[in-house]
Amino acid sequence: MVRLRGHHLVCLNFFSGEGLGDEFRDNYRRLLERLTGGEPVAVADGADEVCRRCPHRQEDLCGWDEAAVLRLDRLALAALGTAAGGAAAWTELTARVRSLPGAWWEEFCAGCDWVCSRPRG
Ligand code: SF4
Repeated sequence: MVRLRGHHLVCLNFFSGEGLGDEFRDNYRRLLERLTGGEPVAVADGADEVCRRCPHRQEDLCGWDEAAVLRLDRLALAALGTAAGGAAAWTELTARVRSLPGAWWEEFCAGCDWVCSRPRG
């Protein structure tokens, strides 16, 4: 099982190859390989397997902006119809992510300067 928090269920779909250093990027790639290889997702509450290799992680908190990432987690979980503690297939989550409406993305992505591959416009 790949442990992922709410907003990473969304953001991992749009990996651009950019990241917060080599360790973070390599871990991200490995997680994607596991997911596309069919390993199921365990929905995490808070820090997950992406955060584990992130320079912003402070124990189980996000040193970048804990409140902001928790808000994104909540938005993502509500939109995807899942909750922390649940499990899901990556292919199913990906299909749900791709069907989210434009207005939802405007709220979810507002203020984010992460370089991702999500098509815009
Ligand atoms: S910035 Fe925060 S939420 Fe994002 S990967 Fe790093 S620790 Fe996790």
